[in-house]
Amino acid sequence: MPRTKKWTIDDSENIYRVKRWGDGYFEIGQNGNLHITPDPSNTDMRIDFKAVIDEIKQEGIQFPLVVRFHDILRSQVALLNKTFQNTLKEAEYNGGYMGVYPIKVNQMREVVEEIVDAGAPFNYGLEAGSKAELLTVMALNTNTESLTILNGYKDEEFMRLALLSRKLGRKTIVVIEKFSELVLLVRIAEELGVAPIVGIRSKMTVKGRGKWASSGGDRAKFGLTISEMINAARYLEEHGMADCLKLLHFHIGSQLTDIRAVKESIAEGAMIYSELHRMGFKLEYVDVGGGLGIDYDGSQSTNDSSRNYSMQEYVADIVYGMKQVCDLEDVPHPILVSESGRAITAHHSCVVTQVVGEIKAHGAGIATKLVDGEHVLVSDMRELIEIIDNQNNLQEIFNDASQFKEQALHAFKLRVISLEELAKIETLYWQIMGKVQLRIKDAEFVPEEMQELDYALSSQYLCNFSVFQSAADTWAIDQILPVVPLTRMNEKPTINCSLVDITCDSDGKLDQFISEYGISNIVPMHDLKPDEDYYLGLFLTGAYQDVMGDMHNLFGRLNEVHIFSHDDDPKDFYIEEMVHGSSVEDVLSIMQYHPSSMAKSVKKMIDEHVAQGQMQPREGVKWTDFYEDCLKGYTYLKT
Ligand SMILES: *Cc1c(COP(=O)(O)O)cnc(C)c1O
Repeated sequence: MPRTKKWTIDDSENIYRVKRWGDGYFEIGQNGNLHITPDPSNTDMRIDFKAVIDEIKQEGIQFPLVVRFHDILRSQVALLNKTFQNTLKEAEYNGGYMGVYPIKVNQMREVVEEIVDAGAPFNYGLEAGSKAELLTVMALNTNTESLTILNGYKDEEFMRLALLSRKLGRKTIVVIEKFSELVLLVRIAEELGVAPIVGIRSKMTVKGRGKWASSGGDRAKFGLTISEMINAARYLEEHGMADCLKLLHFHIGSQLTDIRAVKESIAEGAMIYSELHRMGFKLEYVDVGGGLGIDYDGSQSTNDSSRNYSMQEYVADIVYGMKQVCDLEDVPHPILVSESGRAITAHHSCVVTQVVGEIKAHGAGIATKLVDGEHVLVSDMRELIEIIDNQNNLQEIFNDASQFKEQALHAFKLRVISLEELAKIETLYWQIMGKVQLRIKDAEFVPEEMQELDYALSSQYLCNFSVFQSAADTWAIDQILPVVPLTRMNEKPTINCSLVDITCDSDGKLDQFISEYGISNIVPMHDLKPDEDYYLGLFLTGAYQDVMGDMHNLFGRLNEVHIFSHDDDPKDFYIEEMVHGSSVEDVLSIMQYHPSSMAKSVKKMIDEHVAQGQMQPREGVKWTDFYEDCLKGYTYLKT
């Protein structure tokens, strides 16, 4: 085997696993850049991410930023709906499918508008879980054929809005989360003389597995128990509204990692539906909630950031599971409703950040030349580095070096060696560890202590972004998100590193990465070149991350560019819109500051210095303008 095999994009694929998590949308191109195929049914259409970055730079838009590929959103909407339609046909299922998109997953207007537009041929609807969301979906989805599903806790205003929407001819379904909501709804419906469409949410005994397992089970926050559901149905009957009860709802959690939980919930839900039917409550819809997972780490496993099934399998389990029970129980197949949010939006957006520096593990070290009268501890350490190349027992070298370093620390505290000698010992120590690390790369067996060397010797790449704003779940729930360089993937990445953000918070870091061997705390990236920007993409951020970010350290929302693909464009894409991120003024105002009076106050101080002759008037004007420009500027590093 030749000693230096040329690095190929396949080698990069082995590290970054783009095909595994990319779901047909992302791939490493022959030129080493990340490529996007926004419509997997038209693979001729390929966008080179490098071209997107070049155009963004040309437009003078500052990084970091969110890039949204609207075509991916459209593709996912079509894929989910078509998968249901095809499966229904194949299963000879008599009910239809009416999906809704739960806007809490990403409420950005452009995102919701795109989903509504792409979903129109399928009568795809929207779901709201709060009053603000209800007001949004009432205005945005005007298709009277599609469903509007209302979950979450509700007050009187909420009910009135829902009934207004009924008056406007919309198929708006109020899902009852607790019994008292039903009493409220019935009272207002009678007062307004409007027939509501009522759904009931069942508290399921089956629990999802994964991070959101508590959405199911006896202690679930939402839903009615079996006896409460029966009472609810009877309550409606007593008020002459038995035929208003149309939908059974359940949602056992988001990001269901194990398909068995889906199968079990369908079996349980189908039985409840059938029983209610037999009792005379002829429900038309069964809403299976969300939960369709995303394979963030590309492992196709029951890891928290993965799932052990495909969308096709998920849909088939719902359709066939429901059909089987209904046929056995001899009740009609209900219209199936699902509320997938994560699966619709996760792929379409990513965060592009620039690496602005490398923090080396142990600094550059100091010169370690032999000097007269050097302490024996320094000499001992130097001796190790001289013999290591001819020494086969690396464990012994490792142990000795570790022991000498420990002794040196004691010696320093007892004033036996100087600070400079301690620095020399540390420098030599890390040089030895570097050599050990190289030597054990190809070893068959590596003792545990030595396995940690890769991490101990790795760098930190400082990235211009905030984990708290752009990747909240990596911090909050250890969610894994794929991170890949957007260029140079035809070159060997030689720097092992973890990533840190620019917040003053040691939690502001990413240290869980997809790797060749499962999840690793370091990822190989390329060395930084002084004359070339190095961009990383943080992918699958379109669900939840986009809206859950916070303003830690007053880093605000990111600039956004919205990309559309275009056959006639030589680059295959165009930037349809640029949305400005938060300015410093914006985030300060949210925190109750008055940027204009702050500017005044600083100007006053400058004026006083000018008046006292401590600053030239011209310089004073410059500083005043500079302060004001910074207030109006972006919250992130200018690069
Ligand atoms: C959050 C939520 C969803 C969306 O779940 P995903 O797993 O993102 O698809 C659907 N339904 C309800 C009731 C929810 O609370």
